[in-house]
Amino acid sequence: MHFSKLRLTGFKSFVDPTDLIITDGLTGVVGPNGCGKSNLLEALRWVMGENRPSIMRGGGMEDVIFAGAASRPARNFAEVVCHMDNSDRLAPAGFNDADHLEVIRRITRDVGSAYKVNGKDARAKDVQMLFADASTGAHSQALVSQGKITDLINAKPKARRKILEEAAGISGLYQRRHEAELK
Ligand code: ATP
Ligand code: MG
Repeated sequence: MHFSKLRLTGFKSFVDPTDLIITDGLTGVVGPNGCGKSNLLEALRWVMGENRPSIMRGGGMEDVIFAGAASRPARNFAEVVCHMDNSDRLAPAGFNDADHLEVIRRITRDVGSAYKVNGKDARAKDVQMLFADASTGAHSQALVSQGKITDLINAKPKARRKILEEAAGISGLYQRRHEAELK
């Protein structure tokens, strides 16, 4: 299973529908400061179910909606559509009955977020499960945000260990051990 296309509408600086085609191999995104490169990475995290404002670089959930510019009014919703090629049929059980998967997340002002997977309503949890294997997912360490490397270098040993444990995919074990000890 791999990403094949992202479509952003009203998401941060991408007010008009914008497609990012992701072909096999390496995809590079280049452009001047402030043109929206980091916003693309945030769109990818967001459609996979990311909700932490610290990661989304905004104060609240609705800050991902295009806020308006001198010549354009603000929008009332933001939407990201993520297309995935599943011809290898490696999607998790429950999502694995088609060669193509389409996940949509939309947030509407004063209403909140809604998700669809292949046209059917889905919960945030379903979408997070779809992407929950070690190498993808909204919380994946495979997505390295701007400034993260500096954070890693400057982190105190305990905080650095936490980041490395998350990257190694073992942080869930502590949670399970904690639960087992409570029983
Ligand atoms: P750099 O090279 O400096 O890292 P970048 O290409 O990563 O830049 P981004 O951080 O993705 O740029 O984009 C920042 C731009 O997105 C800013 O111009 C900011 O005003 C705009 N932006 C962010 N959120 C919104 C929003 N909700 N509505 C409108 N514009 C937004
Ligand atoms: Mg950036």
